Amino acid sequence: AVSAVVPEATIFRSKLPDIDIPSHLPLHEYCFARAAELPDAPCLIAAATGRTYTFAETHALCRKAAAALHRLGVGHGDRVMILLQNCVEFAVAFFGASFLGAVSTAANPFCTPQEIHKQLVASGAKMIVTQSAYVDKLRHESFPRISTSGGDDTLTVITVDDEAATPDGCLPFWGVVGSADEGSVPEVSISPDDAVALPYSSGTTGLPKGVVLTHGGLVSSVAQQVDGENPNLYMREGDVALCVLPLFHIFSLNSVLLCAVRAGAAVMLMPKFEMGAMLAGIERWRVTVAAVVPPLVLALAKNPVVEQHDLSSIRIVLSGAAPLGKELQDALRGRLPQAIFGQGYGMTEAGPVLSMCPAFAREPTPAKSGSCGTVVRNAELKVVDPDTGLSLGRNLPGEICIRGPQIMKGYLNDPVATAATIDVEGWLHTGDVGYVDDDDEVFIVDRVKELIKFKGFQVPPAELEALLIAHPSIADAAVVPQKDDAAGEVPVAFVVRAADSDIAEEAIKEFVSKQVVFYKRLHKVYFTHAIPKSASGKILRKELRAKLVSPVTA
Ligand code: ATP
Ligand code: MG
Repeated sequence: AVSAVVPEATIFRSKLPDIDIPSHLPLHEYCFARAAELPDAPCLIAAATGRTYTFAETHALCRKAAAALHRLGVGHGDRVMILLQNCVEFAVAFFGASFLGAVSTAANPFCTPQEIHKQLVASGAKMIVTQSAYVDKLRHESFPRISTSGGDDTLTVITVDDEAATPDGCLPFWGVVGSADEGSVPEVSISPDDAVALPYSSGTTGLPKGVVLTHGGLVSSVAQQVDGENPNLYMREGDVALCVLPLFHIFSLNSVLLCAVRAGAAVMLMPKFEMGAMLAGIERWRVTVAAVVPPLVLALAKNPVVEQHDLSSIRIVLSGAAPLGKELQDALRGRLPQAIFGQGYGMTEAGPVLSMCPAFAREPTPAKSGSCGTVVRNAELKVVDPDTGLSLGRNLPGEICIRGPQIMKGYLNDPVATAATIDVEGWLHTGDVGYVDDDDEVFIVDRVKELIKFKGFQVPPAELEALLIAHPSIADAAVVPQKDDAAGEVPVAFVVRAADSDIAEEAIKEFVSKQVVFYKRLHKVYFTHAIPKSASGKILRKELRAKLVSPVTA
């Protein structure tokens, strides 16, 4: 018989050995596994009030929340929406739901009533935990009536503020949790395949997509980061993790909250990003592990106020969620010389972490500036040619694919989109272009969808953005394609000048053209006051592309 020769796929794996992952455990049990051993260690720190909750207190609160939610009719498989900035109640509601086998879906409280409504309907949630300031949004005519009756056609709204200020028809969080009996949490049998979280993707390229993550999946993802003899992201008791990135995005929920709790570290919760408050919080609570996104790195690298604070407690800076160039990474490293600065690469659908800087490990190995680290343990990564689907070897850019127990179960209510993303062999196709170098380090070039096509050449906007923001006269920048008769598309930049700078278009174009091949040269620079970014730290290039369609004013 003649056998067709199928080329072997090149599969990349972690340099760290695989570990045993207790993926049979429900997420809350897995995360709080050390609570009994560390009862008095700080677990949650509310930066807004200065209050600290120990592991014993946090665990008890989560159980009380579970009992309270149960009394309000929440059971296995039910969905609860969390519409909050970072706060203790967010964490408590999330774990409380998990205890019941219920599923949390979190949303940005700044979403419009229409956006919140859409997510509410898609998730099937009948209960929202929020702050009284947002309740008006939920009184929009499209929503079910807010009532404490728990009826099928009503919405139960729990507000976390001061009990005396509870809006009409709503229930006070601390009232219902405080009066609940920790002993009355029902015995629920939870399977690893049961959903526990329905995070939404950031909506950078289109509408945000609901993603189903299971107990087994999230346990696997957290374990891949912080478990084992030589954890990839080494955190331990005594560490304090900065939680300023929004918990409604999976990066912060997973790599900060879940990972820190599992590791026995404390989580310092900040309701929003405000430079002064954040720096003061880092100083006051001696933050050791800081999860950041590129816009925050930019602010930390360029804002002179950083020099006035003692940030010497920070030993790890983990950047993720969007491309971070070598230039900016090096600039911040100069300001935090004692810290290890590296990246993780994540995607909501991937559970979310695909790769993590190996220099964060207990026994670290070095990582290069600009790299996203190596693929996490107990997982496989490959790079495929987007046209042929064939796997590529080292140093060749193509679409990154990932396979492992941590990836999503699927998109929420969308089997067609799921099948288009996870193939029959279990590989999740990320839509990101990247490559793996000789040291197994993953480098992300950009998204397939956002590559600019100049004649036959591909121009990754992220690469040009990295060059631009390294310029001292440039505060921020973004690059998008502009339609062009001759070339199809040409790269153009939106630039925010640094304070006091009057740098001209020509100087910027020349600065870039000296460093890049001819087809990556900028064809136009538009000066602007701010670059639009999402709450999760991504440049919203789609908004800038839209600006180009209508005439742009300088
Ligand atoms: P949507 O899918 O709704 O358009 P999104 O892809 O931005 O939005 P997320 O799941 O929050 O939603 O983000 C995942 C994406 O973020 C990845 O696919 C990748 O493009 C980008 N990303 C994450 N981490 C990194 C990183 N370290 N370097 C470069 N890009 C990153
Ligand atoms: Mg995406």
